[in-house]
Amino acid sequence: MKKIIVAIDGNSGCGKSSTAKALAKALKFIYIDTGAMYRAVTLFFIKHRIDLKNESDVKEALKQIDISFKYNTTTCNNETYLNGRNVENQIRKMEVSDLVSAVSEISQVRTQLVNQQRKLGESKSLVMDGRDIGTVVFPNADLKIFMTADLKVRALRRQKELMDKNVSVDLKDIEENLANRDRIDSTRKDSPLKKAEGAHEIDTSRLTFEEQVDQILQLIRHEIEPA
Ligand code: C5P
Repeated sequence: MKKIIVAIDGNSGCGKSSTAKALAKALKFIYIDTGAMYRAVTLFFIKHRIDLKNESDVKEALKQIDISFKYNTTTCNNETYLNGRNVENQIRKMEVSDLVSAVSEISQVRTQLVNQQRKLGESKSLVMDGRDIGTVVFPNADLKIFMTADLKVRALRRQKELMDKNVSVDLKDIEENLANRDRIDSTRKDSPLKKAEGAHEIDTSRLTFEEQVDQILQLIRHEIEPA
């Protein structure tokens, strides 16, 4: 069977990851959460107090970072490992969310992660979500989606997600974090967040989760597997 790549980009907290995960499950593709990779690098930088402005420290630190994913059959989640340790919960903390966009602006970080992401797409069909998948990582992806949603809706969804994990965060703090990341992600020099050429835009503000997954599945059927 032909190898297929579905690229999903969009603002922070608009449901990319959960949608991509559900799509991958329905299509029996691999799901890669590239945000988790940037978060894992950020966690390493925090733990080792890396000065983001010091190029040689960043370069040395990157040599020590190995990121991998392992499927957890209990949680049905592809969990993130940093140097062999499961960091799935740690990378979702606010301390990481607050720094991740600054780390993602660094070109050395992007080069390393983009190379790894392209390798992951060499052998298997996958759904990959992030900020530069359709523009930089896989500009020739079989289907490109650009997801958006109102900031308020995104913040409420994120708060619910965190509450489901017993993490209580003020709505205003979440809203500020999302807005701040959107600003940094879309204005940075290297690989800014923008709609890729040929991408289908989906505003999920008024869609249920099932509806947004269904819309993309229909696009896949029409665009990739014509009747
Ligand atoms: O997807 P998630 O919100 O977990 O991503 C965290 C951060 O990682 C984003 O705000 C962005 O700064 C960065 N990122 C990126 N490029 C990607 C994926 C994520 O710059 N492909």
